[in-house]
Amino acid sequence: MLSTIIFDKMKYYILFGPPGAGKGTQATAMVEKYNLHHISTGALLRKEIAAGSELGLKAKALIEQGCLVPDEVVEGMIENEFRTVTGVDGFLLDGFPRTLPQAEALDAILARNSDEVTATVSIMIPDAMIMERIKGRALKEGRADDASEDVINNRIATYHSQTEPLIGYYRNAGKYHEIDGTGTIEEVRDRIFSAMDKF
Ligand code: AMP
Repeated sequence: MLSTIIFDKMKYYILFGPPGAGKGTQATAMVEKYNLHHISTGALLRKEIAAGSELGLKAKALIEQGCLVPDEVVEGMIENEFRTVTGVDGFLLDGFPRTLPQAEALDAILARNSDEVTATVSIMIPDAMIMERIKGRALKEGRADDASEDVINNRIATYHSQTEPLIGYYRNAGKYHEIDGTGTIEEVRDRIFSAMDKF
């Protein structure tokens, strides 16, 4: 008799929101509670810059101006993480996808393994709060792209023009869940957990 092997499906969560919404902070609690691997494309790029790699050198100027790096660069990084990380129940994508072509590429990568995005958790804060939060983070983390108001403004503009259209993309797919990102870290975390407990 043929035995059927049932593989556990991986979960693929997208952590969405404007710069400064608190994605990195909340990701730490989410990966621990749901046994996920955190993939922050921004952190991966900053690691390449610190290592002085060819990719890092190319990304540095774009990041420091508040522009996006080319889609293929981040898509390659994501695929590499999916291929090499094991021992988790899923992945938490933080800062990816950021453009419609990246969202389509993600769907294609997952479809090749008969998988799909599980849910998008979107942390929303008003524009007026973005600058204030990023300036607070700049004092603690010393990120080069947090240092200048012009660069922050460019990142906010890039978010509105290139990343915000993803809300419609995931809403149409029935995978968009918005969380109020105002309040304390614990309040936002509890809102996220009660949404994720239902997925
Ligand atoms: P983050 O840490 O997510 O705020 O990302 C910092 C910077 O890295 C961004 O402003 C972009 O320049 C670059 N970056 C991170 N993720 C992506 C992405 N998915 N697509 C293009 N550029 C990205």
